[in-house]
Amino acid sequence: MRRGWHCILTKREQKDDDSSSFIGGKPCIPIDIPLPICMICGEPLTFFFQIAFPKEHMWAGKSLAFFYCTSAYDKHNDKQQFPPKLIGNSVVADGVLEPNSYQTLFRAVYFDTEKGVMREDYKGRVVYQRIDWVRIKKKDPSIPLTLAGEPVWLGYGNERPKIYEGKKMELVLQVAERFRFDKYPDAPSQMDEFSCIGEGPRYPRKENNYTFFFDHNRVYLWATKERENPVFGLNVQPD
Ligand SMILES: [Zn+2]
Repeated sequence: MRRGWHCILTKREQKDDDSSSFIGGKPCIPIDIPLPICMICGEPLTFFFQIAFPKEHMWAGKSLAFFYCTSAYDKHNDKQQFPPKLIGNSVVADGVLEPNSYQTLFRAVYFDTEKGVMREDYKGRVVYQRIDWVRIKKKDPSIPLTLAGEPVWLGYGNERPKIYEGKKMELVLQVAERFRFDKYPDAPSQMDEFSCIGEGPRYPRKENNYTFFFDHNRVYLWATKERENPVFGLNVQPD
């Protein structure tokens, strides 16, 4: 078994912290990378988390910042809730993962950690939590963020994408099904998913948090195994 890392989350003020892996707050990404917007609805994407890869990881020295559209449920139609589906356990067709056409409602920003700059032009929506990484001793699906290691499959079995444009794909991370990202009180509310089905009135979620690709899905982020310019793909499984 390939051993990855589990996150340990600690709530504190971002300004009092120096961790380069964290959930929420403001992203630290290179200044020449614009804050991403949703290619479907045009809203600014919400910053969810950022990871500096640990020193034993193949991407040590690199970071990944992840953004996702929290307006997806109410401003996207049924077919715009997920990126194009990765067919599991197979070769991904050439061109499918081209970021400008594939990363419509999310954005994976990959960069040299040392080039990250706190983006004061972004107003934090997700409550900041520091991430510390510990090596996995055994699989635990309840851990909010799992880095590398083995996928925890839910009901649908192995849906591992294997090869893209001749390059082997690796598991980058997993986000636990039903993990919620606390939001700041003044951050826009995500609409209730069920109120967005059909034409009825939309209403905001009562909980002061965001769900991530629907509240019952485990999210798997994959990438081609290369140090410079890896290509990302994403799939989900419901619990
Ligand atoms: Zn959107």
